[in-house]
Amino acid sequence: MTDEAVELEDLPGVGEATAEKLRDGGYTTLESIAVANKGDLMEKGDLGKKTATKIIQAARNSMDMGYETAKELMKKRENVGRISTGSKEFDDLLGGGVETQSITELYGQFASGKTQVSLQLAVNVQKKKKEGGLERNCLYIDNEKTFRPERIISIAEEQGLDPDEVLDNIHVAQAYSADHQMLLVEEAGELIKEKNIGLIVVDSLTGRFRSEYVGRGTLANRQQQLNRHMHKLQEWSALHNIAIVVTNQVMSNPGLMFGDPTRPIGGNIVGHQSTTRLYLRKSKQDKRIARLVDSPSQPEGEAVFRITSGGITDA
Ligand code: ATP
Ligand code: MG
Repeated sequence: MTDEAVELEDLPGVGEATAEKLRDGGYTTLESIAVANKGDLMEKGDLGKKTATKIIQAARNSMDMGYETAKELMKKRENVGRISTGSKEFDDLLGGGVETQSITELYGQFASGKTQVSLQLAVNVQKKKKEGGLERNCLYIDNEKTFRPERIISIAEEQGLDPDEVLDNIHVAQAYSADHQMLLVEEAGELIKEKNIGLIVVDSLTGRFRSEYVGRGTLANRQQQLNRHMHKLQEWSALHNIAIVVTNQVMSNPGLMFGDPTRPIGGNIVGHQSTTRLYLRKSKQDKRIARLVDSPSQPEGEAVFRITSGGITDA
């Protein structure tokens, strides 16, 4: 939509009464009218064919229908920044690090390194550009109560950064419910601008949703809410050139006879809205393996890295 988005009442020939009828019929937004079926719109709005045609056209004109040239896209892509994971091999797997303007999903079992990688990124986003950072700050939604300032200090020291400053530049919130988690993201606009946020971490994305929406009856509802949540994250990432990192636990899938017996929670919704998906798993001792499962531009592959007392490093 364009900024000067109008209400239904602003459409030609739509008065209060017609607007009311249209809303009752489910046409609550200009967008819904722009893509409406003319016959249905005539019926719901009690309108003649000519008026309905005019209204649909006006709604379409008021909207940016979403096309842009590849050149314009290329220009936006030039602004894409990358945050180093701390491991060269891991960065290479990602084509240079975790990207802004997109959502990166880290999924894997407990202790696979999802939180450790997230904490490292929260520090690294603050580094100089030539050192793998963006010189920007982090907003961290900690739903698992596993954010540890002490850990940030160790990682910052390892990077030669002032730990005090680094701590000041990470804005942490703990969500106490799925609704609160969504609200924290939806209301983040001011903070994003004010604090020069370059990275938003949601650790974990799905935990609250999983525990709160138990039972099959509410599954559709849960997916719908998750979808909305991801959509908002996507919007922030595009609007402010931000990297979004979400973590996701896996659940065992005993019905599956072959292949990996685990799959990420949230299924298709999270998968389709994540631009880059990484499956983390444990290897020997402090080694971890990151598998690039889905990427718009990088080939599938794996990278080995380590979790040390100073953070993420090469293996
Ligand atoms: P969960 O699903 O339970 O949230 P996770 O994937 O987020 O798991 P992490 O917390 O990222 O897992 O990884 C935990 C692992 O990180 C520990 O098992 C340990 O091996 C390693 N680790 C954590 N702190 C340190 C440290 N200070 N020094 C070395 N290794 C550490
Ligand atoms: Mg964790």
